[in-house]
Amino acid sequence: MIAERLAAVRSRLEAAAKNCGRNPDEIKLVAVSKVKPATDIVAAYEAGQRDFGESYVQEFQQKRAEMPELPGARFHFIGHLQSNKTRVAAGLFDAVHTVDSEKIARRLNDQTERPLDIYLEVKLSPEDSKSGAAPDEIPTLVDFIRTCENLRLEGLMTMPPWSEDAELARPYFRRLRALRDELGLEELSMGMSHDLEVAVEEGSTLVRVGTAIFGKRVKPQ
Ligand SMILES: *Cc1c(COP(=O)(O)O)cnc(C)c1O
Repeated sequence: MIAERLAAVRSRLEAAAKNCGRNPDEIKLVAVSKVKPATDIVAAYEAGQRDFGESYVQEFQQKRAEMPELPGARFHFIGHLQSNKTRVAAGLFDAVHTVDSEKIARRLNDQTERPLDIYLEVKLSPEDSKSGAAPDEIPTLVDFIRTCENLRLEGLMTMPPWSEDAELARPYFRRLRALRDELGLEELSMGMSHDLEVAVEEGSTLVRVGTAIFGKRVKPQ
């Protein structure tokens, strides 16, 4: 089941890239396995998937302990990171997509034992979520992260307000891309199960896809 769904997502990505004249190899697929069992991660790994996204530090810490070594697998933290969880997160993850303050960046830099890939989460809709830095705070944050020797700044991430209509996400994706271009960064972490085509059209270099690969989630608690 997971292998078939993964193949279907890969072909959606490929079709979306070709439709707008992009090379599908430029777009990384991160399989979002939050709330799903460790066995699902292993199944996706066996189907060739290497990048995984998780949102809850403790939940993943437990699953990681149940999983065999998966050579070449990379784990991306995509949830809200509390400062009392940075040390554990730095030990578990290869990339953090939700850095939105100097405080979190400094802690990750001080606490990690190996280089961490960093994406800055940008809050493009004031009403929507509590996490993410405002666009006008991003340049200062970029300068700060460039002084952190253990952090590698990859690019920007955003989560548009939820809507079934993927077209409504387009303006947010477009603004994230414009900001990325202004700052001279490389990567754009944007696009999920229902709007990955729109994200690819707007320049996404990394999509975070959960439901379309692992099926519907039952909310924790
Ligand atoms: C859960 C989650 C996703 C995946 O969402 P789906 O709709 O299941 O594809 C992507 N990004 C973030 C930040 C998430 O929390």
